[in-house]
Amino acid sequence: MNLVLFGPPGAGKGTQSKILTEKRGLPQLSTGDMLRAEQQAGTPLGLASKALSDRGELVPDEMVIDIIAKRYDQPDCAHGAVFDGFPRTIPQAQALDKMLAERGRRIDLVLELKVDDAILLSRVEARIKAGGVLRSDDTPETLARRLAVYYKNTAPLIDFYRGQGKLKTVDGMAPVEAVTAQVAAVLDGVPA
Ligand code: AMP
Repeated sequence: MNLVLFGPPGAGKGTQSKILTEKRGLPQLSTGDMLRAEQQAGTPLGLASKALSDRGELVPDEMVIDIIAKRYDQPDCAHGAVFDGFPRTIPQAQALDKMLAERGRRIDLVLELKVDDAILLSRVEARIKAGGVLRSDDTPETLARRLAVYYKNTAPLIDFYRGQGKLKTVDGMAPVEAVTAQVAAVLDGVPA
């Protein structure tokens, strides 16, 4: 199964992806994690993307389309994957459809985690207060920019996928276990 987990920054995509990896054996393909790994390793892609991601801006489509295609061709994606934080623009979604079609695959489902902005901000503020390990783009200011970018560039994908009949929405404001249960119920209804 190929699944897109969709939602604003802080909606819980990463948390739910990890649970899906554990429970269903689907690898989590997070372009954010891939870019952070490139940045830490100081590769040309890492250097080219760091300033943009630190400001909460999107990196150019070709960069993420390229890394996702390479990652998808690894053997652990033979039975599908969970796409986390990709696609984020219409051209990325079109490129993903094309990439999968070329491999005789398709997206089975797009799961939208719906969360109000005020809750997203309070989640980041709680993380800052707790003083854990923070990402360089996890500040209230950058989150505001990431949210604006989400509404402008990424939210139009909701209609794109609704038009394809693939969109299902769950309440991302419920406690984690309740979101996990909703996700499981939706997935169990998808034909194999
Ligand atoms: P994330 O961990 O998904 O919140 O991504 C962190 C940052 O990486 C984003 O704010 C962007 O700068 C960049 N990024 C991750 N995925 C994408 C994508 N699909 N398209 C463009 N930029 C991305």
